[in-house]
Amino acid sequence: MKIIFATKNQGKLKEIKAVLGEYFDIVSMTEAGVKGEAEETGKTFEENSRLKALYVTELTGCCVLADDSGLEIDFLGGKPGVESARFMGHDTSYDVKNSTILEMMKDVPEDERGARFVCCITAAIPKADGEAEILQARGTMEGRIAHKISGKNGFGYDPVFFLPEYGLTSAEITPEEKNKISHRGKALRAMRDMLLERFK
Ligand code: IMP
Repeated sequence: MKIIFATKNQGKLKEIKAVLGEYFDIVSMTEAGVKGEAEETGKTFEENSRLKALYVTELTGCCVLADDSGLEIDFLGGKPGVESARFMGHDTSYDVKNSTILEMMKDVPEDERGARFVCCITAAIPKADGEAEILQARGTMEGRIAHKISGKNGFGYDPVFFLPEYGLTSAEITPEEKNKISHRGKALRAMRDMLLERFK
């Protein structure tokens, strides 16, 4: 069965193929000939991934998966959250974004530096009546905001996301290790199980 993954990010496409490729024919938006993308106007990861999935399902009539993710920092009331990609502007480098976060957290004690990456994956499955059936899976990775930028792996906020059980940031562990414990890895595996149950 064909499933379109609503992303333009090649890294995410590779990750999803590693988990779902054995069971489904995963096709990118480009391969499916879909142009444009949904506006992320939702207030939650669930709402935004649903908007992204429905946009592509409505255009193609196909089963679609979409994800939305971000970093929640407890001391900042959950920010940047759904605004993670847009925090300080889309074009601002992550060196600048990460340095700004460290500055905002400068005097914050260790026990108030809690943070988590969150990922929500939505599957939109077209129904005969034109509506779409919605399945959703959420994964989180708990950690703390580090005191300095460390590591070259990963992307985005990984260099300031400290994993206490490793004593390293998520930019210092290998991509394989990160996949095992990451918000996206967990959400993907939960979605794989839901889809296998739904289509068995
Ligand atoms: P999305 O692609 O709209 O889901 O935006 C996700 C944003 O959240 C990214 O641009 C990053 O800023 C941040 N983010 C999500 N997952 C990760 C991760 O695993 N490491 C670092 N940053 C992440």
